[in-house]
Amino acid sequence: MVSTCLLLLSLRYTPIRHTSTLAKVIKNRLNLELDSIRQAGTWKSERIISTSQSSHIKIENSENDLLNFCANNYLGLANNSEIIHAAKKALDDYGAGLSSVRFICGTQTIHKQLEQRIAKFHQREDAILYISCFDANAGIFETLLKEQDCIISDELNHASIIDGIRLCKAKRLRYKHKDMSDLELKLKESYNENHDNIIRLIATDGVFSMDGTIAPLSDIKYLADKYNGLIFVDECHATGFFGRTGRGTEEYFNMIGTIDIINSTLGKALGGAAGGYTTGSKVLIDLLRQRSRPYLFSNTLPPPVVASAIKAIDLIENNPNLPERVHENAKYFRNEMQKLGFKILGDNHPICPVMLGDARLASQFADEMLKRGIYVIGFSYPVVPKDRARIRVQVSAAHSKDDLQRCINAFAEVGRQFKVIK
Ligand code: PLP
Repeated sequence: MVSTCLLLLSLRYTPIRHTSTLAKVIKNRLNLELDSIRQAGTWKSERIISTSQSSHIKIENSENDLLNFCANNYLGLANNSEIIHAAKKALDDYGAGLSSVRFICGTQTIHKQLEQRIAKFHQREDAILYISCFDANAGIFETLLKEQDCIISDELNHASIIDGIRLCKAKRLRYKHKDMSDLELKLKESYNENHDNIIRLIATDGVFSMDGTIAPLSDIKYLADKYNGLIFVDECHATGFFGRTGRGTEEYFNMIGTIDIINSTLGKALGGAAGGYTTGSKVLIDLLRQRSRPYLFSNTLPPPVVASAIKAIDLIENNPNLPERVHENAKYFRNEMQKLGFKILGDNHPICPVMLGDARLASQFADEMLKRGIYVIGFSYPVVPKDRARIRVQVSAAHSKDDLQRCINAFAEVGRQFKVIK
C-alpha cells in the first residue's frame, strides 16, 4: 500500500519537474528568437489608435492629429455615418452575436441577404460568408481539391492562400510572379498526370498586396482555357474600388463572370469591419457549406458586421463613381513621388510601395515620418523578401489633395535626410 502511494506520488511529481525544465527551454528559445528579430531591425511594434479608423487619426500618448497612409480603407468607408447607423440598427434588431456556427443556429435573414448581395455584385450564382477572408482561403482548396488534382499558384500569393493550399492534398506547383511562360510550363507539367477527371486550379491574388501589382487575368484565362484549368482569384485588394464600378480585377480586365472562384474580404474597402466570402457557382457554394472546415467549425459573423457590409455594397452600387476618387489620388501620389526620385513599385493601384531595401532604414524612415505627422509603416522580412524592405503607402478616397501633398513633402524631407533621394 505504502509503496503504491510512493509510486503514485513520484508519478505525480515527475511531470511537474519536467514541465518547469521544458518551460525554461521554451522561454530561452523564444527569447533568442525575439532577440534575433530585434537585432535584425524587423521588430513590429503596434501603435495604438485612440480614434476611429480614418484618414485622420490620433494615437495613444500623442495629442497630434496624424495623417493615416497605411489602412486598407480604400473608399474611406470605415467610419462612414450611414454604415455606422446600419450597424447600430442591426445590433438593436439582431443582437450582438449568434453564439453559434452557421449550420447549428447561426444563420439570420441578414446573413442570407448579404450572401445574395455579394453574389449579385459579382454576378455569380451564390456566395458563402466566413469570419474572415483568411478563413475563406483556408476552406476552399481542401474542400475542392483531391489527391489527383493540381494547384498552380503565383509565388507571391498572400500568406492565407499559401496556408490554404498547404491544407489540401493536391499536387502543388508554383509559377514565377505574373510570369505567363512559367505558368504555361507548370500547366503542361500538370498535364503529365494523364487524368481526364482532374482539376487544375490556377490560384492568384487579383492585386498583390505587398507590391501593388495586378495579376494578368486575361492572359491567365487564355492559358486556363487552353489547358483546361480553373481559376481562383483573391480579390481582397480590389473588391469595391478596383475596376470601373468596383467589381474588382475581373472588371478591370473587362471579363466579369469569367473567373471560376472569387474570394474576398469585407474587412478592407467594404466598410472595413471584418469577414470574408467565396462567390462562384451554386454547386461550389453548396459543397463549401457541407465541407469547408472554417465555415463548419467557427462562429457566424456578428449582425452589426453583416449590416455594415450590406450598407457598404449599397453605397458602392448607388454611387458608381465612388472608386474614381481613390484612383485619382493614387495617380497623383505615384507621379509626384516618382518625380522626386523615389522608386514606387506596382501598377496603377492605391497600394504604393516606396522601395528602400534595408529593413532598418524602412523602420527608421517610418519613425521619422511619424514625427512629421504621417503614419506609414515599414515592411520587412518575413512579410516581404529580405533586402526588399519598403514603406507601403496606401492611398484612400478619403485623402484630400492637401493630405497627399503633406505626405509627399514629408517623404521628400526624410528621403533627403537618409540620402534615399537627392
Ligand atoms: N488575402 C489578401 C490578399 C489579404 O491582403 C488579406 C488581408 O490582409 C487576406 C486575404 C485576409 O483577409 P481578412 O483580413 O479578411 O482575413
